[in-house]
Amino acid sequence: MKKTLLPLLLAALMLAHGTAGAWGFFGHRTITQVAVYELPASMQAFYYRHMAELVRLSTAPDERRNTDPTEAPKHFIDIDHYSEDNPFGRMPRQYDKAAEKFSADTLQKYGTVPWVILETKNKLTEAFKQRDTINIVKYSAELSHYMGDAFVPLHTTINYDGQLTDQKGLHSLWESQLPERFINDYKLVGEPAKYVKDPLAAVWGVIQESYGFVGETFDRASKIEKVMKPDVRFTFSHRYGKTSRRYSDAFADEYEKAVGGMVNFRLKGAPTMISSLWLTAWQDGGRPNLNELMHQGKPTKEEKEKLTNELAAWKRNSLSQDQMLLAQQKEKKVEVADEIKAAKESGATRKAAAADDDDDDAPAPVIDKLKVKSKGPAGTEKIKQKSDAPN
Ligand SMILES: [Zn+2]
Repeated sequence: MKKTLLPLLLAALMLAHGTAGAWGFFGHRTITQVAVYELPASMQAFYYRHMAELVRLSTAPDERRNTDPTEAPKHFIDIDHYSEDNPFGRMPRQYDKAAEKFSADTLQKYGTVPWVILETKNKLTEAFKQRDTINIVKYSAELSHYMGDAFVPLHTTINYDGQLTDQKGLHSLWESQLPERFINDYKLVGEPAKYVKDPLAAVWGVIQESYGFVGETFDRASKIEKVMKPDVRFTFSHRYGKTSRRYSDAFADEYEKAVGGMVNFRLKGAPTMISSLWLTAWQDGGRPNLNELMHQGKPTKEEKEKLTNELAAWKRNSLSQDQMLLAQQKEKKVEVADEIKAAKESGATRKAAAADDDDDDAPAPVIDKLKVKSKGPAGTEKIKQKSDAPN
């Protein structure tokens, strides 16, 4: 498909953008859980006490997309809309300057994730200042969500689902199907949290790095497409009178060999950044004593032991094998009846929406022509070599 087709397809694209999720629920929940393990002791007991809530609320922004029309653009930025050659050179980092240059409407259309992350971080800082436990949990979870989204390469491009290059379905293949299928092979141990001096610059750094992976995300799928026939490549399902297509497990297995290292790299990088932003908000919020905010008292002996076991399993990369990954468990840990009800309702809404269009969790295809030079930090090169290996 020619690049010249891109503008023609933009309108259709904009309409569809809301349907592509990020990381899937599995990825967001896993990222949030691991982020808690990377916190310093001064914060960890509090976050661990609220682990189940944090993990569950980390998908709330995606659940809202069904009911809140302003929600969708908060999860991505189609940076290549602004320039294919040098988008990061053209885009001012500050929202006000960006809006002045491109108009607020345009930013709204092509996504606002970097600024939403900052806004959420500031809300979290304020919650720490107020010693507001409910909002600390709420905004920590939401910060985890939006920051997690920024780690997904397909959240930085107008060809976010491969729809412009006949690779529709690549989005959920990359961020849902692969992590769910290969979690046992992925390493989840990242760096401990540290204070982020310039959060906006750090967030833009993550987005730029994500964008650096876009070219490979499509190219490697194209390579497999050349040797795998369409009837093997896709699984078709029919429901509500509509036929939908997703990438097959056979394709996922080949794609994992090609990009699994990259998916793992992003899945592992996100918790480090998220716990670092939590730490930053806490420090900026005056470093309140979080143990005093634990209403049911200090951590119990049982709680401490449980955390120690989980940390050990995380360090040896066996959280999933040891059945300790919350994303793989039923929501049995939700204590409050209202919360259970809310979770059920949001589940129902999601189902209805999925039936409406592509399932958020169903895999999506890839892009080919929007090649991007990778200029990411050292990790970018590392991961490339890693994902080159299986070839
Ligand atoms: Zn999202």
